[in-house]
Order: sequence, then structure tokens, then C-alpha cells
Amino acid sequence: MGIDRREFLKIIGASAAFALGGMTIVDAIVKDDAEAAQYTPEPGALVAGQWAMVIDMWKFKTEDDRKRVIDACNSAHNIPDFGEAKDEVKWIWDDSFEHAFPETEQKYLQASLEKMPFLLMCNHCENPPCVRVCPTKATFKRSDGIVMQDMHRCIGCRFCMAACPYGSRSFNWSDPRPYIKHENPNYPTRTKGVVEKCTFCVERLAKGEMPACVEASNGAMVFGDLKDPNSKVRKLLESTYTIRRKPELGTGPNIYYVIRGADNA
Ligand code: SF4
Ligand code: SF4
Ligand code: SF4
Repeated sequence: MGIDRREFLKIIGASAAFALGGMTIVDAIVKDDAEAAQYTPEPGALVAGQWAMVIDMWKFKTEDDRKRVIDACNSAHNIPDFGEAKDEVKWIWDDSFEHAFPETEQKYLQASLEKMPFLLMCNHCENPPCVRVCPTKATFKRSDGIVMQDMHRCIGCRFCMAACPYGSRSFNWSDPRPYIKHENPNYPTRTKGVVEKCTFCVERLAKGEMPACVEASNGAMVFGDLKDPNSKVRKLLESTYTIRRKPELGTGPNIYYVIRGADNA
């Protein structure tokens, strides 16, 4: 179900007012060291002025293609499988065109496009409402545009979940550790009561590696620097018609989806 710009601004306003009320207490106990939570770049780290992703769903031929990408993220980041949709923790997931792009719905939409599942994730928004409402700075925007999530600093108030118009954040209603299928010892696990989401694989970028989903996508997902006119994402955006989720809200999503007719796939 979509929300319009007016409803969205109402939520943001209400959440921001709450957040402001909590600021004085939280500021007294938490020092402003959000930047310290970033991964230290190693030699050869991938850097950008503004990271962005272009996703071409036409290149995902089977459900297994999508599953491979989702599994890559889940196993890299110790994402629990609680088994129940209401408790689901998801960093990248698939949903219908209708749900992903409610504002682009139209009666004569090409049937193939309408039926196509789209991979969704945090949009690493240019103006992230989640960051605006977070009272502890557990979520913050880096200088390269990545919207980070510091699970140690998160107090589980879920203002950010109310503020995100894309459903990109998940809450751990219980201890996630027993629900991790194969624990990756190189990535931290989380605790009950914290919010989590996609971080554009900052831990991999710091080591010079592409995001896990991009690596598993066989070229269907392209990641790069929006500020570099020679980057692959820029070239793709200049040559292909793309759309973003709910652009009318003014959040400035940095995930782009290639749209074209089945004849050109
Ligand atoms: S998609 Fe949601 S969680 Fe991600 S940056 Fe935008 S508002 Fe925040
Ligand atoms: S749940 Fe955590 S990240 Fe979200 S607003 Fe509250 S403290 Fe910030
Ligand atoms: S960029 Fe990384 S964290 Fe985000 S969905 Fe892809 S694999 Fe998961």
C-alpha cells in the first residue's frame, strides 16, 4: 500500500517531534562519534562521491537467480530466518511491481512488467527521513552517501521504521542469533530490540570488494559512483530508461530500476 506525500510528511513531522524530545537525554549519555562506527578502509578500498545501484530485473531469468542474490546478502550479514513473515528481517527481498512502484500503476501496463518481481532494498536516500528522526544517531549518512546503521547505538525506538516510506528496515523482536542458519564469523550478529537494514556492504567496500548481491547477480546489478561521469552506473543511466521508488516523496533514492519492453530484454 502506498502513502502520498502529505501522509509521509505528517509521519516525518510527528517522528521528528518525538526524536527532538529525546535528544537531550540521549545526547547526555551518547557522545557524537557516529563516524567512528564506519569500517576503516584498507589499501585498495572502493571509494565514491555518491554510491548508487542500477538493477536490471530483465536479466533475472528465474526465481533461483533472485534467490542467489538474496542468499548472498543473508549469509554475508548473518540475517536471521525467523520463519514467520511478521517477524521477518530483510535487507534485500523481492516484491511485485505493483507494491514496489504503486504510483506508476496504470491499466495498460505491459503484462510482463506487471508480473515481474522486483528486488528491493534500502535506497540510501539523498535526503533520508530515517536519519532525520533517529534520536541517537544510530542511523547516519556517510560522506559517500551510504546510510549507515550502528546496531550498538540503536535503542529500538523504531522512529526510523515509521519514517522510511520503503519498508527497508527490520526490527529484531527476539534474539536473532538462534535463527542464523550458517553464522559468518567475520560479520557481527545483532541482539533483540535493534533495527537493521542494508548498508551497501560497507565492510566489503573497505576491502576493495563489490557488494555481495552485486557479485552474485551476474551483471544484473551494477554498483558505482554517481558523481563519476565515466562510471558504469552513470553510463547506464544515460543510455537506459530507469525509474526509482516513490520519487515524488523527495527522498532521492539511489537505487535505479531499468524499465524496458520485453521485446528489448
Ligand atoms: S530507504 Fe528508508 S531506510 Fe533507506 S535511507 Fe531511505 S528512508 Fe532510510
Ligand atoms: S530504532 Fe534505532 S536506528 Fe531507528 S530511530 Fe531508533 S535508535 Fe535510531
Ligand atoms: S548491498 Fe550488501 S547489504 Fe545491501 S542488499 Fe546488497 S548484499 Fe545486502
